[in-house]
Order: sequence, then structure tokens, then C-alpha cells
Amino acid sequence: MPKYLLLRAVQINIFAFMPKVFNFLFLTLIYTSLSAQNPYPQDYFQSPMDIPIILSGSFAELRSNHFHSGIDIKTKGKEGVKVNASADGYVSRIKISHFGYGKALYITHPNGYTTVYAHLQKFGPKIEGFIKKLQYDKESFEVETFPKNTELLVDQGELVGYSGNTGGSGGPHLHFEIRDNQERPINPMLFGVKAKDSKRPRITNVYAYPRDDQALINGKNEVQQLRLIPAANGVYQTEKITAYGEIGFGIVSYDQQDLAPNKNGLSHIKTRFNGTDKLEVDFKRFSFSETKHLNRFIDYAVYKDKNRRIQKLFLEKNNPLSLITNLDNNGYCKIEDSTFSVYKILVKDFDDNTASVRIPIHGLNGEMLPKAKENNTAKHTISESATTYLQGQNSTVTFYPNTVYEDTNISFKYSADTLFLDVDRVPMQKNFSISYNLDAYQDKDIDHLYIARLYGYYKKPSYIGATRKGNELSARTKTLGSFVLASDTEAPKIKPVNFQNKKWLSNYRYLKLKISDKESGISNYRATVNGKWILMEYDYKTGMLVHDFNDEVINETTNNLKVIVTDNVGNSSTFDAVFYRK
Ligand SMILES: [Zn+2]
Repeated sequence: MPKYLLLRAVQINIFAFMPKVFNFLFLTLIYTSLSAQNPYPQDYFQSPMDIPIILSGSFAELRSNHFHSGIDIKTKGKEGVKVNASADGYVSRIKISHFGYGKALYITHPNGYTTVYAHLQKFGPKIEGFIKKLQYDKESFEVETFPKNTELLVDQGELVGYSGNTGGSGGPHLHFEIRDNQERPINPMLFGVKAKDSKRPRITNVYAYPRDDQALINGKNEVQQLRLIPAANGVYQTEKITAYGEIGFGIVSYDQQDLAPNKNGLSHIKTRFNGTDKLEVDFKRFSFSETKHLNRFIDYAVYKDKNRRIQKLFLEKNNPLSLITNLDNNGYCKIEDSTFSVYKILVKDFDDNTASVRIPIHGLNGEMLPKAKENNTAKHTISESATTYLQGQNSTVTFYPNTVYEDTNISFKYSADTLFLDVDRVPMQKNFSISYNLDAYQDKDIDHLYIARLYGYYKKPSYIGATRKGNELSARTKTLGSFVLASDTEAPKIKPVNFQNKKWLSNYRYLKLKISDKESGISNYRATVNGKWILMEYDYKTGMLVHDFNDEVINETTNNLKVIVTDNVGNSSTFDAVFYRK
């Protein structure tokens, strides 16, 4: 059947029998008016789920170290909800990983776009068979494959998976993406995906930032939080400020939709100064290579300190984010003495619900008041353009060029093996490295050493790496903080969960074990039955290792199970058990 007919058939089907089930917009009046400036096809992709679309996450919303690359569709708090191909196409990539997207499916469509379905519990029957075969061939749960465009064809609406909670997912949902042919994720709502939203975005905090050490805000040369006065209809105002020189602003704002309490992201921000456009942030599309610069866009120190994401409405050095456009003076306002100005921030969600804040500014070149606090310990400068070395007793920290966004002062101290490398308040563009010289250690101890970051109140060591080169041990990280050379001599623990040694397991569907490692963490695991590798799925969040007897690879009556688990420094444990089946 030609593509056109298939699409027609599906649409008619939806309209005739399930008008409310797919929460999708097909050519409505609103959309035809929008599509004039919207270059994306409107009737091509259907909803990946049969249930109404309620979002727990929106496109490009601010996440930890990245912009969210898709939409998160709620699955009624459970796993196993059917996931359907959004349009005709072929499976172009399948990736299963412990972290990140977990079980992820990529379907490439004839129009050049790729849809992505992530955190799946399992794949549809055809794809599940394909990937299981690969897992058994490679003897690995984690796999990645790029099938040819003739191998796994799918039709629009075909069952391709079941929603889950695999990988770095904090609860059952479907992560759905649409990417263009350059692998750039685009807001799926721009293709006509619709989630009910009649609520305005909320603005919760506004800040004013001096651009340089000459600028004044309320007499001070430092960031000031402005008092917000809410008014009706999403129109806010701040108290009047006095200012002089070049200043910029930052905002904390989120959007909420009708059927979920989740705080989602905005779709657009625009600023104006005395009637002139200053800057726009358009959250419609980005590249994976730029997503890390979120940490440059937000006030990273405040985020780490207060868990509050201030979006800075000015462009600083080395911020290549393509979301930020239409710049005038990089978004900064120049305030002259004895003037009156108005700065306005307008925010919008995808359904064009708006909110705005108006900031009255009185130009005043007054005396500079003393700063609230000075960081006297921050005496070490990390250079943006040259390699910076910080030397400890038996350790070296190396920052290569372009690690920090600008020359940055940090505090640095050391005591024996512990490095106090300030606190996590400086965004990094790439990793810096920490290395320890091991000359003072005995061979028998060296094998257990790893580099750890000390976390939380109890300074719990957390593994960051243990790369050995001669007499040096090194690790790479993007976060400042305290680090230590730690030792792990304890092997991982392996416990059976739903069976005991020498039992009959004939009616069991699953074989479950729990694995854990107290110190450096689990690096790998391997399970065999009668010497033959069996697939065990690992969930790092629960520590569960699960084999599905429906794989039908265990066909003997007497079965010798052997599970070997190794931690990040190479300590390993072996679990042996016998079970019977017929
Ligand atoms: Zn997601």
C-alpha cells in the first residue's frame, strides 16, 4: 500500500473510533495558522501510545547537565504499556545500556526523521527476538546495533515495545524523541503532538547581574535578587531598582500542564529593553554536542547551592548554545545616570500561554557599597586558555585548555592523600584529571586503590576512576570537590532472591539475584548454567539480576548456576547453586 493511503487509513480510523484516545492535533485551525512558520510535517507522526498524552517532562527542559532531548509521557505509574511506531520506517538502531536510555529503540522514517523510544521494559516480539539473538551471540546484556534498512521494517502503529523504567529513569514513563537527519532532537510538539495545557508559566525569581566590576545594582557590584510583585493574568512586576553601567537579568520560571503536577520547561523566552528586543531563547531544537552548555546558561553555583535553576538572559563568553538567538549587546542593558528604563521578560509555553515581568530601572551612578562577602581562600586560578596544574603531596590535578569557560579562582588545599578542590560550583566544559603517584605504596595494596570523590555530610567515597599507567593512578571528572585515594579490598555480594540451592524451579518464570558492592561499585557480571552463558538483565537502581526462563536456553534437568561479579578495582565473587527443572 502506498504511504499516503496508509496514513489516510490510520487517520480515518482515529477519527471514526477513537477521537479522544490519541491526543494528537491533526490540521486544526490553530495549527494551520502556526504551520506557516513551522517547517515540520504535521500529519506524519502519530502518538507512540494508545493512552492520552500527559507529560512528566517537556522538550529542552532544564535537567542535570543537559537539556531534555524529548518528551516524557506518563504511563499511569506502571510499566508494560504498549508503544507503537509513530510512522512507517525501519529500525535503525537498538541500544541496551545499564544507564542512560536503558532499552532504546530508534526508527528512521522515509522523510528523514528518526523517532526514539527509551527506557523500554522490552521490545515488541519481532525486535525482541532480533536483539536477544544478538545478546546471546555477544554474551552481553548491554548491546548496540544498527540494523540495515531492509532488516526490521515497521508499519505506523505497529507494536514495537512496552514502556518501562530501564536505565537512568526515575519512574515508569516513555521518553519519546524526534530527531532530524543531523541527529538534532526537535520538540515533538512541533510535529503536532498535543498535551493539554491551559495554564500560564510561573515566574518565581528574578535576578539582576552586573556585567563587569564597574556596574552597580542597588549600589552594589554583585548579583541581586529582586522582589517580585505578582499581579493578575501572569503579569509580574519587580520593585524599582537603581543601576548604572551594563547589567543583565536572570529568571527562574517553569510551566505546568493541566493534568500533571510536574514542573516542566518553557518553550520561549524573550527580553526587551525600552522597547528594543534584547535576546530570545527558543527551546525548539538543539544538538547533542551543545547540551552540556546548559551549565553555562544557568547560574551553576546557585543551582548547586540552592537547587534553583536561574536562566541567565545574557550571553557570556564561550557559550555556543544555538537556543539563544536575536542578540543585542549579548542581552545586556546599558544604564546611564539619571535615566528611567524598563526591562521586560516574556515567557511562553508551547500552547502560547504567557507570563511576563516588568523591571523598572532608575539610572543612578552612586557610590559603590561594600560586597556582602569575599571568598578569601579562592587563590588558585584555573586558566581558560592554558593548561593549569595544581600540585598536591603525591598528586597532580590537570586542567587542559577550554575546561573552564573563563579564568576562574578556586580554593585548593591538600592533606596527605586528600585533595580539597573547592566545591562543585564551577561549570566545566570537559573533564579535568587527577593523578596520584603510587611510589609510596606496596604492590599488594596498589591493586585495590581507586580515586574517589567524597560525597555528602558523611564524606562517603564514591568511585570516579582507577586508570593505571606505570606508577600512576588517574581518574577524570567534571566536578570540583574533595577527592581521596581510596582502597577497596571487599568483594561484591551476590544473593539469590527467589530461589535456594538444590530446589526445583520448574514453574518459575524468572531467576533473580541481587548483587551489590560497598566500595568501588560493580564493574561487570557473568552468569552461566552448565558452562553456557545465560542472559541476565541488570538494573543498577535495584541491584537486581534477572534471567527469563522463557529465553528457553536452560533445557537440562540438573543445572549448575555460576554467577561471577567483579567490582571496579577487580575484586570478584563467585556464586554457585544447583537447581532442577523439567
Ligand atoms: Zn525523558
